Formats: sequence, structure tokens, C-alpha cells
Amino acid sequence: RAKRQGCGGYAIFDEPMHQQALQQLQIETDLRHALERGELCVYFQPIVALDHQGVQGFEALVRWQHPTLGLLSPAVFIPLAEDTGLILEMDFWVLETACKQLQAWQAAFPLGQPLTMNVNLSGRQFTRPDLLDRVDQVLQNTGIPGSCVKLEITETVLIENPQGVAVLLSELQERNIQVCLDDFGTGYSSLSYLNRFPVNQLKIDRSFVALLDTHSRESWEGQTRPSEQTEIVRAIANLAANLGLQVVAEGVENQEQLQYLQSIHCDSAQGYYFAPPLDSDGATEWLQQFLQQSG
Ligand code: C2E
Ligand code: MG
Ligand code: MG
Ligand code: MG
Repeated sequence: RAKRQGCGGYAIFDEPMHQQALQQLQIETDLRHALERGELCVYFQPIVALDHQGVQGFEALVRWQHPTLGLLSPAVFIPLAEDTGLILEMDFWVLETACKQLQAWQAAFPLGQPLTMNVNLSGRQFTRPDLLDRVDQVLQNTGIPGSCVKLEITETVLIENPQGVAVLLSELQERNIQVCLDDFGTGYSSLSYLNRFPVNQLKIDRSFVALLDTHSRESWEGQTRPSEQTEIVRAIANLAANLGLQVVAEGVENQEQLQYLQSIHCDSAQGYYFAPPLDSDGATEWLQQFLQQSG
């Protein structure tokens, strides 16, 4: 965006803004080729069941190894991918890559309860008529049963096209594919909305989890009162229990947060406390060690 200066009507960029605009443009151009050039990769963050501290599965999180800018966070390029429509191919590529990885892990680490994989889907996917066909195709190609896949969508998706989404969610349920509402609590869906949709899980946003320990309580003085944050988390967990939904917490970074989440019977959690998102090798190593330790 340009700044007007004086009466000459010239549009003048200030330097950092100009740089930023250029970089944005470069990223957008490069993104078109990232997939075909094999620059995208998937990281995996473990999700741990809190009752017995067993590993449940992983969340797949996309990364972009940019040739000159280094490893880019999805926060940088997902919005661009959404604007340009590239998100569709990207999300299916992530789904397929994650399911292949899951297949390898299930074979290498056979557990009583097979490992699961959470995959994020952009809201844009839900307007797409061939979503189910594409999902079926991936499951067929990889041999992963629907019951091992959890698709994460945000609350806002429910609001934008409630009828269409309800039908689609039912179709996913028929395939035993679970649906998880990501970043729960940050959207603006009314809670009464929830039981109208066949969803299985609520994932408490990490902004709420971040305020569950005394350390951050101190730094939040003057802003939203921490006791309220704690109550929000408790309320979400109660709501989930009343609706028969699983509740997951994201962004768990310390033992204090973990203990609180356990005290309110949160089902599972992920966060740096257990492990950050790891590349395929890193996640395999983590899994090996975790399973060894837990006997
Ligand atoms: P999300 O789905 O809510 O993923 C959780 C984010 O929290 C991840 O950021 C993860 O790295 C970060 N995180 C995990 N544990 C902790 C923790 O203990 N502390 C803190 N501070 N952060 C933690 P990431 O990987 O940068 O992803 C950002 C967002 O990008 C994701 O949020 C998701 O909405 C989106 N995204 C990622 N991969 C995909 C994808 O394949 N498709 C789509 N459509 N969106 C994706
Ligand atoms: Mg997610
Ligand atoms: Mg999330
Ligand atoms: Mg989030």
C-alpha cells in the first residue's frame, strides 16, 4: 500500500514496506512452483493421551523449504495459498504425504490402538465438490482406514456454509473419519451451533492454554483476567463432555498447564512440553524413545 505524499499525488513506499511487498510478491510467485519442485515438506507433532500418557498420533503441519528464504512457516504462505487457490492441491498433498507416513509408522510400531493422523484442511476445501472423492482416493492409495484420520477445520467453516458443511461432515462420519474443530474458542460460533454438526473433537486454542500457568498469569496483569481464561478452558472441557466430544489441548508447554488440563479431564494434548513439530526422521526417533520409556 502506498502512502500519498504532499500534493503531487506521487505514491511513495517507505523502504521496509517496499521490501516487504517485494518479498510477498516473490513468495507468491515461488509458491506456484513449490509443490512441483518438491520444496514442501510435512512436519509431525505428537499428540499424547492424558489419562495414561500414551501416544495417540500426530498432527501433520506443512513447511516450505524456500530456496533462498529458508524454512518458511505456514503462517507466511497459507494465506497466500488460500488467495491463489493453491491451497487445494497443497492440502491434498499434505494429506497424502501424512497418510503414507502413518502407514509406515503403523507397520513399524504396531500398537493396541493404532496411531492416528490429524490433517488441517483450509475452509476453502469445504466448498469443493470433489473433496470426498479426493479423500477416498488418498485413503485407498495409502491403505489407511478412515478411522485413523482426523481432519481439522476451524469454527468459521461451520458458519459460512452451514447446510453444505453439515452434509459433508456426515459423509466423513460415514467413512469413520473424525472431524476436529481447531483453534476452538477463537472463532465466533455460538456454542448452540455445535450440536447441529457431526464433529468429534474440540481442540482448545493455545492462546487459552498459554494462560494456564502462574508464570504467564503475572505478565497478564491488566489484560483479560487469568482466572477467566482458566474458566474458559474448563467451560470448553465441560461443554465437550456434555456433548460427548473429545477435547484436545494445543500449545502445552509446561507441567503446570498439563496438570490443570488433566484435572479437568482433557483427553489429549500436544505442545512443546512433549515435542515440537518434527521432521519425519525426528518424529520416528521421538516415537521410538517414547514407546521405549513408556514400556
Ligand atoms: P494449528 O493447526 O493450530 O497448528 C498448531 C500450531 O501451533 C503449529 O504452528 C505448531 O507448530 C504450533 N505449536 C505447537 N505446539 C506449540 C507450543 O507448545 N507452543 C507454541 N507457541 N506453538 C506450538 P505451525 O506449524 O506454524 O502452523 C500454523 C498454522 O498453519 C496451523 O495452526 C494451521 O492452521 C496451519 N497449517 C499448518 N499446516 C497446514 C496444512 O497442511 N494445511 C492447512 N490448510 N493449514 C495448515
Ligand atoms: Mg491444526
Ligand atoms: Mg490449532
Ligand atoms: Mg492454532
